[in-house]
Amino acid sequence: MIPVTAGETILRTAYISHRDCHAHDTGDGHPETARRLSAIEDQFVATGLFDVLRYFDAPLATDEQLLRVHTPGHLAAMIAMSPVSGYATLDPDTVICPESLTAARRAAGAVIRAVDLVMGGEMENAFCCVRPPGHHAESSRAMGFCMFNNIAVGAAHALQAYDIGKVAIVDFDVHQGNGSEEMFCDEPRVLFCSTFQHPFFPYTPLLENAANRVNVPLEATAKSAEFRAAITDHWLPALNSFQPEFIFISAGFDAHRDDEMSHVSLTDQDFRWVTEQIMQVAEESAGGRIVSVLEGGYELDSLARCVELHVRVLMDLH
Ligand SMILES: [Zn+2]
Repeated sequence: MIPVTAGETILRTAYISHRDCHAHDTGDGHPETARRLSAIEDQFVATGLFDVLRYFDAPLATDEQLLRVHTPGHLAAMIAMSPVSGYATLDPDTVICPESLTAARRAAGAVIRAVDLVMGGEMENAFCCVRPPGHHAESSRAMGFCMFNNIAVGAAHALQAYDIGKVAIVDFDVHQGNGSEEMFCDEPRVLFCSTFQHPFFPYTPLLENAANRVNVPLEATAKSAEFRAAITDHWLPALNSFQPEFIFISAGFDAHRDDEMSHVSLTDQDFRWVTEQIMQVAEESAGGRIVSVLEGGYELDSLARCVELHVRVLMDLH
């Protein structure tokens, strides 16, 4: 790769976002708000991180890219249900406005861009700071604040557009990534690892663990020790055995103890630690190739701090 430097620092991490992602309006009182992106951006400005990242605008995902994981009927429904004014409700939690379809195409397009940057050798890894989130979106269903499954669109792109044979999707959002699981449950080239509060939203039946699936449910009372044991005892052996050539992170921060979206009580340092564990696997098997995609995280202060810690690990600045 060509190292790009700011002073003595090699700029190795891409930060991919778009103003259009702010325009996705979910209505008064909804937890999935544009203030989440603003809180992260403010944190990155205040700490100087933006000076040592490379910023890229997210392109719009094309129909062809979305249709690698979604049905034509789902794409048609998202277009048809997009309101001309006001709001439309895709499910009881998932509210969209006239600008949401474009935001959702940007969110998925960010992951496409991230894969292209990493596979092209331009950047070592990438963080996609986007909304709406994606991991609950199934092949033919929007749900849980999600329209398109951003990380799945990116994983399918890595497999289809490049000479990548095996990818892992690791998901530490406090909600189980039912959409990613559904899309790749019969795909041996994709290992899906997830930790999540259980029983809890999305309330979809838990599939049994398999060669390409490691679901680790956590009790509502779980704290750092239980979370770290889940990663150490379940994720890492599976990842080390699978030897992924590319790792995607569904980076949700709603398991934080300050986040009222869940009952699990993780700390800032848990998010740093899990990122370090994933980085180590990526360096050993995937040439360091990681694309991380924002999922949940609704308490703005802890979200901003934890995303900073997460990205610092990706940047090797911790
Ligand atoms: Zn979540």
